[in-house]
Amino acid sequence: MGISPRTLQLAYTGHEQITIYNIIKKMDFLIVIPILAGWISGWVVNYLADVLPVTRQFSHPACPKCGQNFPIAVYLAFRPCPNCHQRRPARVWFVQVIMLIANIYIWFKSPFGIFHFHPPYRLEYILGTILLTYFAMVFVIDFEHRLILHPTSIFGALLGLGLGLWINGIIPTLIGGLAGIVIMSVFYYFGVLFSRLRARRMQTAGQDADDEEALGFGDVILAGVLGLILGPFIWIGLLLGILLGGLAGVLMVFYLMIAKRYKTQALMVFMPYGPFFITSAFLILFIPTWIAPFIPK
Ligand SMILES: [Zn+2]
Repeated sequence: MGISPRTLQLAYTGHEQITIYNIIKKMDFLIVIPILAGWISGWVVNYLADVLPVTRQFSHPACPKCGQNFPIAVYLAFRPCPNCHQRRPARVWFVQVIMLIANIYIWFKSPFGIFHFHPPYRLEYILGTILLTYFAMVFVIDFEHRLILHPTSIFGALLGLGLGLWINGIIPTLIGGLAGIVIMSVFYYFGVLFSRLRARRMQTAGQDADDEEALGFGDVILAGVLGLILGPFIWIGLLLGILLGGLAGVLMVFYLMIAKRYKTQALMVFMPYGPFFITSAFLILFIPTWIAPFIPK
């Protein structure tokens, strides 16, 4: 058996040295792929978040203020409306930057690590990008409109089913999906009870009751979709999502108390839960190292 100089070097140093040179050597020109894909994925998320809640179809993007169609070049460059000079929301830049960073991240660090799922070369990155785009779209639309649209849920269910079957096989996928729906349905019905109670209290307080729901049925469907993908990890996903939502709720109450608006607005403030479930699924799938100690072997 011959020993190569490389083996000798590794035996000598014990590990490959982490130097700037080694990092740059690995960052070859292929990095343009996640940069381009990240930017395009940001465009897709922004476009879908602009048109789907308004027209429910892949329509031409129009100015929300004056209704005039955007010229494509103006739209893609995030320029203000040429007709009424209405500026684009800050969200478009947030989405572009976050999708860019996330794509570069998953290019170097594969998603799905928690499942030890490693499909053929770079397919893992492509699946990760598609999933990330779907997550970002649901997040933005639910955050801005408190709405989880049926067409996006159907797309998510197909994506989740396909991914789940591949990653976990049929039984864990179906159990995960079912568990997501059942667990969230329980919360949903508690939410309905709470809304009735709240409507009564608001009427007693002389405020007009609205038909605000603590938890929408879209959240139940979303939990099912995430269950298909996460399989046996769905309970961690839901628990973490509820904890994150609760934490945000506590911060919100603190803010209202500091702003001395607690009495009038405590019952008025509702947060969509979808973004928190998306965030927890993202953490489990894309940044799994933090969660490993909590998983029963
Ligand atoms: Zn306009």
